[in-house]
Amino acid sequence: MREIIAIRGATICEANTRDAVLRATEELLTALLDANRLKDKDLVSIVFTGTPDITAAFPALAARTMGLSDVPLLCAQELAVEGAPKLCVRVLVYAESCLSRQEVKHLYLHGAQVLRSELALKGAHRSRLSIAIDGPAGAGKSTVARSLAEALNMRYLDTGAMYRALTWQALKHSVDLQDDRALTALLEELRFTLEDASRLTLNGEPLGEEIRSQRVNQAVSRVAQWSSVRKLMVAKQQEIAEFGGIVMEGRDIGTEVLPDAPIKVFLVADHAERARRRQLEMQSQGHVAPLTDIAEQIKERDNKDSTRMASPLRKAADAVTIDCTLLSPEEVVQTIMNLVAVETHAGI
Ligand code: C5P
Repeated sequence: MREIIAIRGATICEANTRDAVLRATEELLTALLDANRLKDKDLVSIVFTGTPDITAAFPALAARTMGLSDVPLLCAQELAVEGAPKLCVRVLVYAESCLSRQEVKHLYLHGAQVLRSELALKGAHRSRLSIAIDGPAGAGKSTVARSLAEALNMRYLDTGAMYRALTWQALKHSVDLQDDRALTALLEELRFTLEDASRLTLNGEPLGEEIRSQRVNQAVSRVAQWSSVRKLMVAKQQEIAEFGGIVMEGRDIGTEVLPDAPIKVFLVADHAERARRRQLEMQSQGHVAPLTDIAEQIKERDNKDSTRMASPLRKAADAVTIDCTLLSPEEVVQTIMNLVAVETHAGI
């Protein structure tokens, strides 16, 4: 059934010249029409806005120059809001379409962003939204997932910490790491809870620094390889995630733990950069180790995690890959916020 849909988009112009403004706007409109499979005749109307620093041309003119001669247009200047991007053109396209609200694709080009997504999304936790963040060791998952959860007022669960806690308990009680039955029996005794939205506790006690020790680093992937251990661990994680409003990070969140999560992100980064980040993280926790050792360990752990039989580290088919080698954690968080805003139609 055809209904009226509303599609958002924004772009940044290279300069305040007539040519640059019209080129950027035309590129945005063309991309929006293509992404939503719209023809000229489907368009109902288009609203354009530009930041006050755009004075060389009305962005709406682009619709006429690209041949959209019948569509009613409105072009307005945006408020001069502090911190707003420069030379930004936004559009709101109304069109007749068979696409559902969920299928509509909003586009943000050339670094244009959803405005004040952190405000618009504050209610995300109430909507039971879940966000899955997976990726190899040291890609920056923890920093990003934690900040994202804080910004969106959502809960945060580091599933790696659960595998680490089990590993620590196994080492402490001298459980054979090759004995999957004994490991599963040990896990059955462990009760994980999430307190104050992000503090993971084990049998009521906060997790100690020992779960980040070298002994655990070296053993955890061997514990995590067993399918019986994973099955029980995934059930415990799903129980914590039951009411949504959670950002979860790990290796199999998008594929196994939250296969229906509307937002799935796969974070990657260069191997050398991941080793450097892991070293900094370890230093901040008081663990010192040479970079070459850390790089080697990461490689070994990634290899074990990606080649194991039971739910290996893998990008979910519907996950968005973000390469964060050259991005700051804030930039990665903003990119994910944009995805969330588009998904929840919360942006402006
Ligand atoms: O994320 P972190 O590096 O702390 O995870 C430690 C280990 O726990 C990983 O190397 C992996 O073997 C295991 N893990 C897993 N599935 C998850 C999270 C972690 O197998 N969802």
